[in-house]
Amino acid sequence: MHQQIAPGITQIATTKRDNAFLVEGDDGFTLVDVGWAKAPAALLKAVADLGRKPSDIRRVVLTHAHPDHVQGAAELQHRLDTRILIHPADLPWLEAGRVPPDGRSGRTGRLLDRLPKLHWTPFPADGTVADGDVVEGSGGLRVIHTPGHTPGHVVLCHEPTGTALMGDAVFHRGGLAVGPAALAADPALRIDSLSRLPRGLRTVGFAHGTPLVDAGIGDFYRFLSDLTSQV
Ligand SMILES: [Zn+2]
Ligand SMILES: [Zn+2]
Repeated sequence: MHQQIAPGITQIATTKRDNAFLVEGDDGFTLVDVGWAKAPAALLKAVADLGRKPSDIRRVVLTHAHPDHVQGAAELQHRLDTRILIHPADLPWLEAGRVPPDGRSGRTGRLLDRLPKLHWTPFPADGTVADGDVVEGSGGLRVIHTPGHTPGHVVLCHEPTGTALMGDAVFHRGGLAVGPAALAADPALRIDSLSRLPRGLRTVGFAHGTPLVDAGIGDFYRFLSDLTSQV
């Protein structure tokens, strides 16, 4: 299932709970996140439904190295010969094939990470992205480093349309939330990082949850200001 959330930006449901995004750029698509191991099939079906070729996925930017975002990435890299990019602070996790024991602040998170189904095939990235970068060829995706959920978590802001793709910086399942603290690497830092998000957004896409536009954007900024005024 897919839906256009802004001009040139398509949300793809890789499961009922997880989304990836295709962003139309100068030379094809930039894919933001992949998903679980079975996500490549859903992604390639969506690309076909859009009347495009798998090779139109020119690069993948991973918002962070958690299994629900990266587990299918090695297969996509292998099948499509596409470039996989990630922030350097999450690179060792990608190459280890799991979240390391110090990657979650709480015991629940550390226990979960021992489960083989939350591991992935270790693989190298083809490049890295840093705060302030505009991803080359992406048609204007700016990288905003938002550490806390993981050390190298990034939000991608598509400047031409005022669209932010939140990764796991904010969830929108039912209501807006930052998710369980035990699953974050540094719960306090993730709140600080939200002050780095740009003002004036017109659309917000979530890896987990439904997109916000129009009146929903007011709710989004109220959520951010309530959260950041508590610290
Ligand atoms: Zn995550
Ligand atoms: Zn996630």
